[in-house]
Parts: sequence; C-alpha cells; structure tokens
Amino acid sequence: MRRKVIAGNWKMNKTPTETKLFVEELKAVSQNKNGCDIVICVPFVDIACAVEGTKGTNIKVGAQNVHFAPSGAYTGEISAQMLLDCGVEYVVIGHSERRQYFGETDETVNARVKAALEAGLKVILCIGELEKEREQGITAEILGKQTKIDLLGVTAEQMKNVIIAYEPVWAIGTGKTATTAQADEACGLVRGVISSLYGKETAENTIIQYGGSMNAKNASELLACVNVDGGLIGGASLKAPDFGVIINAAQ
Ligand code: PEP
Repeated sequence: MRRKVIAGNWKMNKTPTETKLFVEELKAVSQNKNGCDIVICVPFVDIACAVEGTKGTNIKVGAQNVHFAPSGAYTGEISAQMLLDCGVEYVVIGHSERRQYFGETDETVNARVKAALEAGLKVILCIGELEKEREQGITAEILGKQTKIDLLGVTAEQMKNVIIAYEPVWAIGTGKTATTAQADEACGLVRGVISSLYGKETAENTIIQYGGSMNAKNASELLACVNVDGGLIGGASLKAPDFGVIINAAQ
C-alpha cells in the first residue's frame, strides 16, 4: 500500500517572515492528518525558518534544487550536504521551469539525482511532456526517455527514496489540468517504465505524483486515480487553507 505524498512547490515565493506565518497556519490545518506525508519545498533562504517552524510536526521540508558536486567553484549553487545540514529531507529535481529557463537537461538532472541520493536526501524527480509532444502522440516516448536517463545508475535500493512527479508541462501554472484519465494513464506508463528497469515490486512501491494546476477543487478526483500517489502543487500550495483541502483529499 503506497502512502500518498502531498508536496508544495513554492517556486520563487515567500520571504522568511512570510514562511513563519505560513507554517503556523499550515500546522493548524495539517494537525492529526496522518494519512499522507506532507512536504513544503521552499526557496533556499526560507529553509531555516521552515525547519524551525515545523519541528515536532508531520510537515517535512524540501528544497527546489541541488547541485551535483559535493563542493567547489560553483558560484550560487547549493550542495546536498549543505541541505542535509540545514535539516532538509526532500529535494525537487528536474522541474520543468529549471529545464526551460536554466538549461537543465536529462544528463544534469541525472547527476543531481545521484548526488542527492548518495548524500541521503529524498528526491522528487519531475518529468513531463510538452503540449506539442502530447499532440504529436509521443508522450509515452518522452516519459520513457526522461525516466530512463534521469534514473541512470540509480539502484533499486535507492528507488525507495525516489518520488516521481508526473507534471505535463502544459498543465503547470496554466490552470489547464490533465483529466483524471490522462493523469492516471501517464502515471501508469511511468510505473511501467520503472517496472521494466527495476522489476514489478519496485514499481508497485514507487510513489508517482501528479502535478499541474492541482487545486482545492480538482484534487480529490485526481488523487482517487489508482496510479496517482499524491500531488506536487505549485500555486495552490501558497495558501494554507487551499493546501489543507488538498491534504484532506489525500487522507
Ligand atoms: C509545480 O510548480 O510543480 C506546479 C505543478 O505548479 P502549479 O500547481 O501552479 O501548476
């Protein structure tokens, strides 16, 4: 039985002061919700406040990126060990905005995934097709390619610490949500690829989230899909009451 994981991706939103206020609100709405795991993936500068504010609660803290080198001449970058030392448990890797605006490729995503896992972080690996690729009928090929390259060299044992977020790029921040059939089919396709790489047991145990304009209104039907094990939520994770509704839907 896979546990659902509800993760908020704040993107470049909220100051440390706003983080403190948000965490207090979220604590109130997420209390006694033990039916799913709750993660907030915050900007680097908010990590300290988020970790401090969530101590002793069921809310975990994630970062939104990590570098693949342990240290060195990489101005502006953050290593896995730095994140761990700050109390971070999860890290989002390969988000479509990183791929689109910051030149992230499947090869650099793979390097980051391996570095994060080797250091002991849990990875939320984002994959997803462009609108054009869906129209061209190559969604399965794109998801297969991304999954295979992004996970190259990752062992079955390490897969216990990998969550895959299926995020169709056309649905991120657009208000255009995938239908339940599209989300379930794509998450099922990814599970099939995991099965071909690692075997059925690992595939059955891997958490595969849906992400892309999930909100308080559509969360319950998306989360009810057999292959959807939670959500990676952008916009709707910035308001504690809305995020709380999504957490409730996953219980
Ligand atoms: C995201 O940032 O991963 C995301 C899914 O954003 P939104 O929920 O705003 O579409």
